[in-house]
Amino acid sequence: MTLQPTRGVLSVASECVPLIKTGGLADVVGALPKALAGLGWNMRVLLPGYRKVWDQVTDTVAVWADDNLFGGPAAVEFTQVSGIDLLLLRAPHLYDRDGGPYNDSFGDFGDNDVRFAALSWVGAQIAQAGTTDGWRPELVHAHDWQAGLVPAYLRFAGSSIPTVLTIHNVAFQGNTDADRLAALRLPADEFTVDSLEYFGQLSTLKAGIAHSDKVTTVSPSYADELLRPEFGFGMEGVLQHRSTDLHGIVNGIDIEVWDPQTDPLIPYQYSARSLARKKKNRSALLEEFDLTDRPGPLAIVVTRLTYQKGVDLLISAAEGFVRLGGSLIVLGSGDQHYEAELQQLAERNIGRIGVRIGYDENLSHRLFAGGDAVLVPSRFEPCGLTQLYGLRYGTVPVVAATGGLRDTIIDASVAGLTSDAATGICFAPIDELGLARALQRLVILYSNKTTWKRVQRRAMSTAVDWQSSAQRYAELYDELSPQPTVPVT
Ligand code: ADP
Repeated sequence: MTLQPTRGVLSVASECVPLIKTGGLADVVGALPKALAGLGWNMRVLLPGYRKVWDQVTDTVAVWADDNLFGGPAAVEFTQVSGIDLLLLRAPHLYDRDGGPYNDSFGDFGDNDVRFAALSWVGAQIAQAGTTDGWRPELVHAHDWQAGLVPAYLRFAGSSIPTVLTIHNVAFQGNTDADRLAALRLPADEFTVDSLEYFGQLSTLKAGIAHSDKVTTVSPSYADELLRPEFGFGMEGVLQHRSTDLHGIVNGIDIEVWDPQTDPLIPYQYSARSLARKKKNRSALLEEFDLTDRPGPLAIVVTRLTYQKGVDLLISAAEGFVRLGGSLIVLGSGDQHYEAELQQLAERNIGRIGVRIGYDENLSHRLFAGGDAVLVPSRFEPCGLTQLYGLRYGTVPVVAATGGLRDTIIDASVAGLTSDAATGICFAPIDELGLARALQRLVILYSNKTTWKRVQRRAMSTAVDWQSSAQRYAELYDELSPQPTVPVT
């Protein structure tokens, strides 16, 4: 018999649920520590101490300090929130300001390169020396461009600690001017095509890709897509170079937070066996948005309002869907022109289309509980989470056939329906006509109540938790840092 000791892994990221979130990255960073706990890995998350973060924590213990972290004093404080072990980087000159993690109402912060180089620098220091409470990681897991310099700093310092970089969205790359090398404590001779240079600029995402031992992304299809110019955003070359070390591991969701049987944020809890109660959530939602009860499906959308998310496609297809008897509720925030166009759409379709501009976690739960279908018409989607919430809540996903959407939804084709495998509608090509046809299919599917319920139930029985994905991450960590086994005497 052998004992498997728990080993440390340092996760470095710019967002973490429940403290700070702008997108799916935060969900993944917050979920992984809990999912890995039973698999032999003790994960601590190093996170910038934004002003908003300090408002939510008490009881912290200082475990690291530096008099001059890129222009000001800094400390790292350990605390636990919702069962997550956190290392919060207190550096007021970098993070104590109004706004979100990356911007305020005037736009992106001008010093984002330094703010996240500092995060990565501290990650590299802790990776090498541990924290003063005796914790020392055996491996580092960096997320996205904000932590992309961690593997680079480690390699430049001669450290051999294994590193994993996860790309949540290759469109965000942390590019900055080449003359920032010294300011970011990077060696000038590393400004090469194999290391930090990216089309004449310095790219922290590329640094991470080039210098980590393994690169992962959040679905197998997106891992394939990343190697192609249409999806690679210029990183396809360096990723092709690393393709044997590139792995696609699909995200899970927190099935305790997202559980229609216990969700305290929805009016009527329900399960696959009590779908009549889901109808009550639907009625409550229609009332909340002043929508009429119409014969067709009530579709919902919860998203950042950007070109990536196909918001323009949605706006073009929405009125055709309404003419077929459907209703629509959109919750989102983002590009101002989309916000304005959506509001106009709602004004033209009173009683049929509801729009709420803003970020509202609680409302999103009510939407998933009350909606019949969730629409995700993204042009590209590394993994996507809202289709997974849709599966869990029996809110049938209608998704573009790309990335993680393609990997997680089984289309209600003839084959999908006859084999009882279908969990949603998957459409291509990803354009206005493609979405319009998918919405027609949705209306037809919804009109056949028996088939609709079968698809809903199949969706609700799909595994969307972290179990198998966390296992994959643990296997990857084990491969990079083989488990020492201690014989029990
Ligand atoms: P991305 O990270 O590209 O924005 P994901 O689908 O991976 O897309 O994750 C988005 C996350 O943010 C999901 O948890 C989704 O529910 C949430 N979300 C997006 N917009 C809103 C909003 N306006 N209100 C509440 N939650 C939102």
